[in-house]
Amino acid sequence: MTSTRRTRGCSLWAITGCGCGSLAIIGILLVFALLLLRMERERRDPSWDHRAYGACLQNLRYLHGAAERYQRDHGHLPARLEDLDPIYLDTPARLRCPLAAKGRGGPYRYTPDAKNPDDALITCANHGQGAIMVQRNGLLRVPK
Ligand SMILES: [Zn+2]
Repeated sequence: MTSTRRTRGCSLWAITGCGCGSLAIIGILLVFALLLLRMERERRDPSWDHRAYGACLQNLRYLHGAAERYQRDHGHLPARLEDLDPIYLDTPARLRCPLAAKGRGGPYRYTPDAKNPDDALITCANHGQGAIMVQRNGLLRVPK
């Protein structure tokens, strides 16, 4: 038995289908817009590049460990970060913030403490307003 009755406008199934389809399209457009906003934000402010930020933190932690191994072998901290290469580094890329490697920032700053030769700071000023510091105790600190 077939129904010959026609309704005006959309049937219930058509409305449901249109609604789901519309929501899917709106969702896709929203995700696309959010990705574009994120890309634009990263382009304008490199510190928002979260992948680079994570890699930078890994580099700083690695450099801290490498400086400690250098100190254990030589009795003092290296005079420059470059002195760690190649023996104490897995790759020379550790010496540069990922943003600097992309041409969007400066190199790490290595500052031996003049008062205490066993202390040094390795800082990256590319991320945020402050700097990421590796302290002698191995803790990472992100100043406000
Ligand atoms: Zn960095």
